[in-house]
Amino acid sequence: MKFKYLTYLLVEPSLIFFDMNKTRFRNVKKIRSLKLKSSKKYRDVWWLEKKFTLVDIRGHTFIYHNAIGEKGANEIRILNMISIEDEIEKEGKWDTRRYNSIERPLKQKNHIFKVEKIKTKSLSVTSGVIGFILPSELFFDDGRVKRIKPTWKDIKMVDGDIVAKNYGFYYDWDNDYEIVGGFLKFENGKYDVYRCHVVKYKKVLKNSEVQIVFPCCSTSVEYNKDLIVQRWGVTNAYCKKCDKYHNNPDDLISRKDGQKIDYELFALEDSTDKTEEKEYGYIIKSKSEKLTNANMRFMF
Ligand SMILES: [Zn+2]
Repeated sequence: MKFKYLTYLLVEPSLIFFDMNKTRFRNVKKIRSLKLKSSKKYRDVWWLEKKFTLVDIRGHTFIYHNAIGEKGANEIRILNMISIEDEIEKEGKWDTRRYNSIERPLKQKNHIFKVEKIKTKSLSVTSGVIGFILPSELFFDDGRVKRIKPTWKDIKMVDGDIVAKNYGFYYDWDNDYEIVGGFLKFENGKYDVYRCHVVKYKKVLKNSEVQIVFPCCSTSVEYNKDLIVQRWGVTNAYCKKCDKYHNNPDDLISRKDGQKIDYELFALEDSTDKTEEKEYGYIIKSKSEKLTNANMRFMF
């Protein structure tokens, strides 16, 4: 299945998804009317969040979708990774050519996907279009409604007629036309929301690659779990030579060349902590195609 990058949003404090048919985010007039009398609730960011939030995500967020031809898409992935800046940012700017590398920090030969269906969250699409918006950007601090305009992009014209509209964005006209949401041609149906983690295996360092340097006598000893002892509930490193105990043994342990050990990537031979679980993101997927640990795949 082929995936495409759709957009970037800075999510604070939430991102909501909705069926374009059922909500009032469809056009300017309707967004404006929120302020007037129609429905007070739509002016309430908290109500909006409660009603439409499908994903609990904050910060730099990247939205991707699949493409299934005529019907548009039927899967959305919402990713925000701590490591994303390193992957995508280049000299202070987003390097757009690298959007497809967002999953790279998670990829590993023997990784395991951990997919969890969020039972309380589901979405029904009946309008053929799914939308998403930052509720925080709909209103000014004083409650006035911002000028948020939806604009279709990627329109295919044949002989002056619009034959296909694939996606578009909500632009904030009161703030440099910043993108505050978007919408996408989407297959009608019922959708589930999943959260996914990736379990990565750490590289195991053999004892022969690791040393403890005791501060009492500056002696370097090959690492061995027997040198780490519990004393009155505190973990200590024990120097046989001086018969001395030292707090915070992790500070004394290093590679043989003195290099610090990055425990996010490496594990000691005797460690019980040889895997690392990393957040992948959220997936909105048709109820008819159940997502499992086994059939989950990276996009790129
Ligand atoms: Zn010593």
